[in-house]
Amino acid sequence: MPSRKIDMTDVRVGKLVVIRELLPADKRIGSKWICKCDCGTVVSVQGSSLRAAILDPKKGTRSCGCLRRKSSRDRMRRLWRNAKEEVDKGNRAGALHG
Ligand SMILES: [Zn+2]
Repeated sequence: MPSRKIDMTDVRVGKLVVIRELLPADKRIGSKWICKCDCGTVVSVQGSSLRAAILDPKKGTRSCGCLRRKSSRDRMRRLWRNAKEEVDKGNRAGALHG
């Protein structure tokens, strides 16, 4: 019987390029792969996370984390703007008495 394991070497997933499998594989979480991000960071990623990212761009792991850091910064900016609007609203509501 041939192995059913998928060889992910040289596969590009988002900003990551798979270099080689991380051995030994963890029986509980399955295979992991050494990937190099476009930003130069080398990370180990679960095979299931890579496959999820290939199937659905909104899921899985597609970078060393630099993509997520960028989007979380955008989210912080949005939260900050909302907070500022809340403060402006509060000031307009006349919370200041003397
Ligand atoms: Zn990166």
